[in-house]
Amino acid sequence: MGLLADIVKQTNGTPPTTIRSFAPATGELIGEVRITPREEVAAVVARARRAQQAWAVLPVKERCERLLRFRDAIAERQAEVVDLLTLECGKPKHEALIHEVVTTLDLLTYYANNAPRILASHEYPLHLMKHRRAYATYVPRGVVGVISPWNFPLVLSMTDAIAALVTGSAVVVKPSEVTPLILQKMKEIYDATGLPEDLFNVVQGFGATGQALIESGIQKLCFTGGVETGKRVAAACGARLIPCVMELGGKAPLVACADADLEKTARAVVFGGFANAGQVCISVERVYANRAIYEPLVRRVKELTEELRQGDPSHDFVDVGAIIFPKQIEIAEKHIADAMKKGAELVTGGNRKPGPGQYFEPTVLANCNETMTVMNEEIFGPIVPIQAVASDEEAIVLSNRSHLGLNAYVFTKDRGRGRRIAEKIEAGSVLINDVVSNYACAEVPFGGVKDSGFGRVHGEDALRDMAEKRVVMEDRVPMPARNPLWFPYGKDSYRFFQKTARLLFGGGKIVKKIGEFL
Ligand code: NAD
Repeated sequence: MGLLADIVKQTNGTPPTTIRSFAPATGELIGEVRITPREEVAAVVARARRAQQAWAVLPVKERCERLLRFRDAIAERQAEVVDLLTLECGKPKHEALIHEVVTTLDLLTYYANNAPRILASHEYPLHLMKHRRAYATYVPRGVVGVISPWNFPLVLSMTDAIAALVTGSAVVVKPSEVTPLILQKMKEIYDATGLPEDLFNVVQGFGATGQALIESGIQKLCFTGGVETGKRVAAACGARLIPCVMELGGKAPLVACADADLEKTARAVVFGGFANAGQVCISVERVYANRAIYEPLVRRVKELTEELRQGDPSHDFVDVGAIIFPKQIEIAEKHIADAMKKGAELVTGGNRKPGPGQYFEPTVLANCNETMTVMNEEIFGPIVPIQAVASDEEAIVLSNRSHLGLNAYVFTKDRGRGRRIAEKIEAGSVLINDVVSNYACAEVPFGGVKDSGFGRVHGEDALRDMAEKRVVMEDRVPMPARNPLWFPYGKDSYRFFQKTARLLFGGGKIVKKIGEFL
């Protein structure tokens, strides 16, 4: 049952008009937002479109310069933003600052510095129609909708919002109903910058509000969330031919080769598995360890996991915070029960912690195999399952036996071996001797294959895709009014084109020479 169904049950069938946000670390009520009614979502989009028209005509450089005011304001109020992230998500301050605030500020800086170059018009050299010239320009789309999840409520909303604003569109964000306050704060900060009103907007609500946003006349949708929701959202976009980017779930494998650096691999497993309490789409979700290092790796991962300090991040510098969405605790328990029934060994952890607050111990399972749900389905919680494998080949086969393909990790001291494995794993990104860090690289495209979605965020291509590509063609050499390619068709012109086609495409010396020339 989802959050909405739970609430409707508690209120005897009355749909809510507000969303209350509770601190996962303490269970305390920390705020309440009004749900945006369906008709109001359409009105927000209409106002955004009007505001966008003046924004769209500004040169890219000027838009970027103005948007840096938004960056500066977020940077100035970073302590406030970090505190709210820590409170609403129960995540450690380090993670709120580095994973969310710094990544957002850095992406905005990267795009502000590079967008004029990335979005500059460019020519397509034509190999056949030498007399013509074609070039592309990148024009704003209009209004971009963003629907985001609860695990990184700031960065996963702002990544798309920033790209939309830079390319001259307006943006309407529908954050998760589980963490509505962070984007409310972003709206407050944006509105205080003096940047155009109605260009950056937030609507609040459950899935129905997301649906209303898709139906409100937007020109592009960026969705980040679960696979099943993603399928419904992509279908709704498909019915309206709205281009969309789908950033969905992950099941990142970590391949630990026989020659891997044991200490580094163990630390990577623990960080990759338990950062943000494992609620990361690119968490280490399954480890395939070569038998040569399996036992020492399990031992070291156990030691390091047991050193982690877990608790309320608002008071202390803890390593692992709370579980943001309580359903994840039930999911974790089910995975563990299934794995234990099928022969897994509970190395450490395994239990929810007594309240107040929602906590689940960092858990390591060994002796895992592919019949267990924990090795096949997304966990999205603090569990790291480890399976022994006999060879790199076996690790590759098992890594690819998944419907998901977002990130993957390979640990080896041999760069060539790492690359060979990386190039065989079906994933959007494969990191050698590192975990998770690719999301923080503003220049590098991020996204998934298979059920992990389609489209990319970050980097040059994603920014260009956020805009509409318009191709313009013109004469390089003026053509006569009677263009031989136009009417009238006749026997002579047909013979001429027949001969030309034979010359160009029919093989032989002349063709080779022309080919070289073209
Ligand atoms: P979710 O799919 O339940 O919800 C995501 C968003 O979609 C929320 O804002 C929700 O209100 C909205 N929504 C729900 N139903 C909708 C509908 N019918 N139409 C429009 N919008 C609708 O996901 P979640 O539980 O918030 O997040 C966890 C999932 O997100 C995990 O599967 C995780 O792997 C994935 N995720 C992916 C990435 C990535 O970059 N690929 C990043 C983070 C999280």
